[in-house]
Amino acid sequence: MCLTAACQIQAAILEAALKKWTPVGQAELASWRETPAGDKSIILGKHGVGRKQIRQYASFEIISAILKGRVIERRLVKRSSAEAAQTKLPPVEVKLLVAHSFPQTRDGKQVTRHIHVAVVFVPGSRHWTITTVYDPEDDADRWSENYTRRICWCHSKQNSGGKEVK
Ligand SMILES: [Zn+2]
Repeated sequence: MCLTAACQIQAAILEAALKKWTPVGQAELASWRETPAGDKSIILGKHGVGRKQIRQYASFEIISAILKGRVIERRLVKRSSAEAAQTKLPPVEVKLLVAHSFPQTRDGKQVTRHIHVAVVFVPGSRHWTITTVYDPEDDADRWSENYTRRICWCHSKQNSGGKEVK
């Protein structure tokens, strides 16, 4: 458990936002799942983020996280019109972090494998992009015991996300 003051303050600020917005993200994921195949898509992001991590998993494991996992964080990313024009990215995007786990045999032993998949989409759109895939066990001390709740933000690359949870 991280005890730095900055992290404790961040956790307190985020708790209420997570409680409010995570169910909204879960509903968005449920709605995506219910959308007929022809009306939705999900692709791996073109940019290199998480490529190495993505290779740790088979495609079906990534897809099963989307089909069966649950949303543990939801953020709204807002860009100024200048930033949107410059980056050619939408002015508003939703970012969901989906957590899933599945049994796996490792060295002859049955273990639980965990996976986190981050997706991004324009609000209401059924065309989603996977931006990051990683094994939360690689940063075990940033996560609660079952890897479904972030407990440390201070060393996280996703730190900037903190105040954007809306
Ligand atoms: Zn921390």
